[in-house]
Order: sequence, then structure tokens, then C-alpha cells
Amino acid sequence: MSAGIAVNEARLWKSVMDMGQVGALPHGGCCRTALSAADKAGRDLFVRWCREAGCEVTSDLVGNIYARRPGRKAELAPVATGSHLDTQPHAGKFDGIYGVLAGLEVVRALNDAKVETEAPIDVVVWTNEEGVRFGPPLAGSSAYAGTVDVGKIHSAITLDGTTVRQDLETIGYLGEETPGARKFDCFVEAHIEQGPILEAEGKTIGVVTRVQGLRWLKVIVTGMDGHAGTTPMDRRRDALLASADMVLAINRIARETDRWARLTNGRFEVEPNSGATIPGRVTFICDLRHPEKAVIEALDAEMQEAMRGIAQRHGLSVEIERVMEKPPVQFADEIVDAIRQAAQGLGFESIDMLSGAGHDAMNVARVAPTGMIFVPCKDGLSHNEAESAEPGHLAAGAATLLETLIARARRV
Ligand SMILES: [Zn+2]
Repeated sequence: MSAGIAVNEARLWKSVMDMGQVGALPHGGCCRTALSAADKAGRDLFVRWCREAGCEVTSDLVGNIYARRPGRKAELAPVATGSHLDTQPHAGKFDGIYGVLAGLEVVRALNDAKVETEAPIDVVVWTNEEGVRFGPPLAGSSAYAGTVDVGKIHSAITLDGTTVRQDLETIGYLGEETPGARKFDCFVEAHIEQGPILEAEGKTIGVVTRVQGLRWLKVIVTGMDGHAGTTPMDRRRDALLASADMVLAINRIARETDRWARLTNGRFEVEPNSGATIPGRVTFICDLRHPEKAVIEALDAEMQEAMRGIAQRHGLSVEIERVMEKPPVQFADEIVDAIRQAAQGLGFESIDMLSGAGHDAMNVARVAPTGMIFVPCKDGLSHNEAESAEPGHLAAGAATLLETLIARARRV
């Protein structure tokens, strides 16, 4: 452990609780959807804290915030950390917020210890990770990584009928910097696990080695509308019945593949969706996830074949279209190793983990060496007001983050 530098558990906890008061909900959670008035209030609070800690704060064209603790050598690429302050509509106090405030706690702890680093340290707030008020999700980090155009984000229409650019102007976070112009030495994101593994294993730190890939297939099954009372069972072309067969068949394929495969059919549109009419058309989404791209390809092919066979047996037609693709991400060995060593040096038990959820870090990983630190959360619960974590676990994650960052930024 770096001599004389300690994160302050009580201060970090209080910051998380104070941020949780912004957009607070009745059951202990909060709602700060991106670029809303509550998001502005949360951003303003973070910016004030950062300025009080001596940081220079700027934002870019999509409203990503960069709070810089200067280094001895201003020309060096910043060592970066951060996450998001925006939330789901019924969110807890920790998802995203923790990673931002752990970064701030690193800055405060370095200030307390009067430690200088050679490289600057940037704490980043990525805009619209959650994608609730407008799309796409992970917008700010996608713009940073160059996978989504700034213009496309600016012209996106929010649930309130405004454009994102208007909202950025309204809340005062339309900066001038081009996203991605600032090159990071590395990026490390701390986050609650949002799953049950660390708690079940009794470990404090999850060293995230990779993020699984995601593919969406849109399936349109076309049969024929018909009268519910007069059409004999053997003369129907029922698109919903065929779709149900498909869902069962492709779930069987996913279950028989391996323990990593995930398939979800969470959205159905049934037409005409009338109680007395045989459904003539059904559209549904297959959300398919796996850490290995080759397995996603194989599952996709096998599932498409199964669905086409079922359509044929039912005398229906099926169209299958790929509508979203997020390839799996392998984090940089040098960062993964640094996190593992930091945890070990501090005496925290760690395990290597896969992230099942998407995070801003998976975008940044395209353009800079990147890693993630997970800490346990109660019952693995997230995207829920009851989301909860232990102050000691949050401090352990922040301490691991601090060690990882100063190993890169180099203590003077
Ligand atoms: Zn998050």
C-alpha cells in the first residue's frame, strides 16, 4: 500500500448518501435520468465538490464532464477513472454514482496526503449511460470512443420532446471539446457488481477481465388473422403459437450450450392483439449474450435454423434481422494485473470476473487500456430503489482504485 495515503470511508459514504438526496425517491432510491433537472443538480454538486478539491472541470460536446487533478507534467496523458451519475427511473444510490465518487475520493485522499503525481488524474462523468430519456444508452462513452456521431446524439429526441443539444444548453453542459480528443493513459471504472457473485463467494474485490457480448435479433413471424370461433384448429396460421414454439426451442438451445449463454425474449408485439382474432403477425426480440463471439455466432445460426424449421412446420413465414451488436470486450492485461496487484497489496480478497452488464468502460476499452473494479452489493440487486452496499466495501474498492491509478500516474 502506498505509504501515507488512505481513502476516507466515512467521507466517501457521506458523498454517496448526499448525492442520493438529489432526485430522491420515497423508498430510498433516486431518479436522475440523463440531462433532466435532477441530473443537472447532481452534476452541479459533483462539479462543486471537484472544484473544492482543486480540480479543473470541463465538459465536451456531449456533456461528458472531466475533472482534472493536475499532475507535475501537464503534457502527459491523464490517468482516468469515472462512471455515470444518470440513473434508471427507479434507481438506487450506487449504480454509476459509486464509480464517480470513488474517483473523487481518490482525489481527496491524494490531497489529504499532499501527494503529487507526474500524470494528471481525470475523474469522468459519462453522459447518458442508462439511455432512459433518450438513446442510445452509453451515449457519452460511445461518442468518446468514436462509435456514435456527436450529431446523432445532439439530434436525438428526449421523452420530453426536446433535443439532446437543447437539453445540454439548458443545463449548462454543452462544452466545446470534441469527445475523444483527450487521450487517456488508461481508464479504470469502479462499479457495484449488480450481481450476486462477490457476496456469495465472500470476496471484496472483483477484478473484471471481460464484458460479455450482446446481439439482438428481431424476429417477425407472419401467419394469417382469422376468426377465433369459426376457424378449426387444424386450419389456423397462428403466428403467436409458432412464436411460442420458437421461444421454447431457442431457450432449450441456450440452456444446452453452456452456463454462460443468456437468451431473453422480453418484448413481444402481437397483431392485431385482439381476444377474438387468431394472431396474424408477431414481432419479438431475442437478446442473446455470451463472452465469446464465436459462441454468439454459433447460437445465432442454430437458433435461426430452429426458428425457420418451426415456421415451416406451422406454414408461416419468418424474417430474422440483426438489430444490435455489442462485441465482447477483453480488458487490457496490464490494467487487469494492476488492479489484481493493488487489491492483493491492500489485503483484499479478489476474484476475476466477467461483467454481465454493459458499462462505459467497454466503450473506452476500444481506445485506451481499460479495466474495471467491482465491489459487492446486497443480494446482487440493482436497478431497484433497494440497491444497497456496505461502506467498507465501497472504501475497499476506492482504495484499490487509488493504488491502481497512482501506479500509472506515478507518485512524485
Ligand atoms: Zn452503471
